[in-house]
Amino acid sequence: MYRLSNIPGILARQAARIWPARCLLCLGDSHSRRICDGCWHDLPHLRHACASCSQPLGAGMAGPCPRCTQRPPAFARVWTPFVYAFPVDALLRNFKYHQQLTAGRLLADLLLMSLPASRPLPEALVPVPLHPARQRERGFNQALELARPLAQQLPVRLAPELVRRTRATAEQVSLAAGERRRNLRGAFASRGTSPSHIAIIDDVFTTGSTAGELARVLRRAGAQRIEVWCVARTVTEPPRAGVQRSR
Ligand SMILES: [Zn+2]
Ligand SMILES: [Zn+2]
Repeated sequence: MYRLSNIPGILARQAARIWPARCLLCLGDSHSRRICDGCWHDLPHLRHACASCSQPLGAGMAGPCPRCTQRPPAFARVWTPFVYAFPVDALLRNFKYHQQLTAGRLLADLLLMSLPASRPLPEALVPVPLHPARQRERGFNQALELARPLAQQLPVRLAPELVRRTRATAEQVSLAAGERRRNLRGAFASRGTSPSHIAIIDDVFTTGSTAGELARVLRRAGAQRIEVWCVARTVTEPPRAGVQRSR
């Protein structure tokens, strides 16, 4: 079984070869890292959160959150290292709506840097598929562009072929939670058998309805342990004790 802690040497060598010496956020000296310590420190890190859905938890509160206790999601764990707040939100918007693929690459690296070293890695990464018409319109699938560098740097297979979007759905961002679930019903179909342990990759985790629907489809295709990795999570209330902006 691969764990992230097995491969820091490989990553360090790749970093020295590929990454610039300048921080991509402030252009200061980053000692061959993608971003400098100061910028990393200032990122809106999501700390104490429900492991099942990444909803921030209040100080002293143990997970899972009340919602997941009542109705466990179709996926086992969500990993979203950041709150959808500056500068991560700006990077995500530039990536998704202004085709800034370098911002996407930085976000993938930040996600990779944030993954807990001790966790067993999944066998495959499954980016949330876009409908072909939407992909033509945007020019790329943001989830696939995030998953690609992760698969290059981890001993994990990229498996976008496992699922496809069978119909174009309304943009989730404009819909309430119940409408989101209805909007997605039957929107995905699997192709072939899924590996047992997989991670769904997406840019932003909001209500979890997209990941939930995809997880149900992948479960029917054979997945037993399904994680969700997203760069950021939207939070419904301002960061409280559970959300700290420092490392
Ligand atoms: Zn910096
Ligand atoms: Zn939860």
